Amino acid sequence: MSGAPAARLPREARDELLGRVRAIVRERLVPLEPEFLNRPFREARAALDAVRAEVKAAGLWAPYVPRAHGGLGLALADYAHVSAELGWTPAAPYAFNCQAPDVGNLELLLAHGSEEQRARWLAPLLRGDVRSCFAMTEPGNAGANPVLLDARARLEGDSWVLDAHKWFTTAADGSAFAIVMAVTDPEAASPYQRASMLLVPMDAPGVTLVRNIRIMGDPGEDWASHAELRFDGVRVPAASLVGPRGAGFALAQERLGPGRIHHCMRWIGTAERALDLMCRRAAGRELGGGARLGDQQAVQHWIAESRAELDACRLLVEDTAERMDREGQKAVKERISLIKFHVAGMLQRVLDRAVQVHGALGLTHDTPLAFWYAHERGARIYDGPDEVHKSVVARDILKRYRA
Ligand SMILES: Cc1cc2nc3c(=O)[nH]c(=O)nc-3n(C[C@H](O)[C@H](O)[C@H](O)COP(=O)(O)OP(=O)(O)OC[C@H]3O[C@@H](n4cnc5c(N)ncnc54)[C@H](O)[C@@H]3O)c2cc1C
Repeated sequence: MSGAPAARLPREARDELLGRVRAIVRERLVPLEPEFLNRPFREARAALDAVRAEVKAAGLWAPYVPRAHGGLGLALADYAHVSAELGWTPAAPYAFNCQAPDVGNLELLLAHGSEEQRARWLAPLLRGDVRSCFAMTEPGNAGANPVLLDARARLEGDSWVLDAHKWFTTAADGSAFAIVMAVTDPEAASPYQRASMLLVPMDAPGVTLVRNIRIMGDPGEDWASHAELRFDGVRVPAASLVGPRGAGFALAQERLGPGRIHHCMRWIGTAERALDLMCRRAAGRELGGGARLGDQQAVQHWIAESRAELDACRLLVEDTAERMDREGQKAVKERISLIKFHVAGMLQRVLDRAVQVHGALGLTHDTPLAFWYAHERGARIYDGPDEVHKSVVARDILKRYRA
């Protein structure tokens, strides 16, 4: 994010803010779940947009965006707490205008966008009038290694000409623009300095949405789309670079660091909801002979293990966010990798236990558990698969032993 790091809120002010966020999430959005869970996003859009208007009126819009740009201007460590509240129900990030991938693009344009990019693309994104997407992963290359890119952009006169084939571009269907990673400097000595980010309007000639790829857990269109895209000789002005030429990888890392903390805290909120549902079911479900589900030792262990794992993850992520506010992203690179795989794994264990406690009901869409069980399997893959993050952590530990 641009400018000096935001100051932390005093504890009382933060708790008051979290109470207001929680009230909207639980009283306004949870009752809408039957309308938006497992249904096309557009069907629930009017209801969700009404809540967006309330969020704006309550002064809670875009919590992580600086105040000068119409947000709440929270420090990452305070925003992490808000993110956990938003994890309670799947549509909450949209209602508060901090949903992926928009929030990452928004941060990029705030920090590195030109005046023109900010006026034309960032301003409507901040208002919530348009959506955007981020296109890096390609069908022909291992996405886990972002150095491997076939996308090429060459400068012709005062235009970039882009040829690229991308997939899993979240929310591309209906987006106003894409930020596309493409190689602009194939001769650069370091593979990390060959790619740049280009801002491409989705209605530019040569942009084709080949298909919305259905993935488990998502209705697969509109905001919940993961598209395959082609960019065939797409011509955009030379001023369409986001940030410096050749800085694509550096900016991608900058974008992903806070994004992973947002994801982790949202997953913590989701796991809290799963544990809450698990406990309600365990306490209320009668098994006959006066016994309840919660009297069974296996269920008690699941509840205790989930509580312990959740609390440990929360402390780890809060500590990482605080350190990142204080020391910058570089200082917590390995820690971000650690929380990314560790919290994603915790989420899946807690969701699995919650589904098991609900029996057949856990497989229905009467609760959000089935949605999350399918949707959040992706948490161990997107923004870097588990195995890559584990290697980052282990290499850092071993480096010290080797030294
Ligand atoms: C829900 C969802 C949304 C997404 N949204 C976007 C988006 O908006 N924009 C975008 O550009 N991309 C997006 N992606 C793509 C995502 O970033 C890639 O799926 C991810 O980087 C992994 O790349 P890949 O799928 O090509 O898997 P590969 O790179 O082919 O890896 C496959 C598997 O191999 C293993 N593996 C890979 N590398 C290593 C290694 N170094 N060490 C050990 N094991 C390894 C891992 O188990 C990994 O899961 C999204 C993906 C999902 C699931």
